[in-house]
Amino acid sequence: MSILSRKWAQNSIYQHKLRGFIFEGDVSISKVHQLMKDNLGKKCIYCGKTLSLDEGSYKASLDIINPRHLVNMDNLQIICKKCNEMKGRKNHSEFLRFRQTPQYLKQVKCFKGNYPTKITGRLY
Ligand SMILES: [Zn+2]
Repeated sequence: MSILSRKWAQNSIYQHKLRGFIFEGDVSISKVHQLMKDNLGKKCIYCGKTLSLDEGSYKASLDIINPRHLVNMDNLQIICKKCNEMKGRKNHSEFLRFRQTPQYLKQVKCFKGNYPTKITGRLY
């Protein structure tokens, strides 16, 4: 499990760099690995599903809280894959607002899983 999660951390950083995100000096594979380990078994802050490394919609994934800022450890969080896909390039507040729109409810209906419609994210 720890080998897999380290690989996950490495790959997550790599994938974000490929998409053009600029990482600041304090981000390392070890720190992202630790962040993920700290969050496994906890709940996704947006939907409340338990974060794990199991394949599927609720797999733990690395999210950039505010994608328009430089990426440092304070700007990273672990959320489920499904919420991450829906959040896209929105920042935390924008995503919370988006979750109150009919557009969001339409997206949720297209998703066959049991995705919650009520707001659960914490406000910064
Ligand atoms: Zn989620």
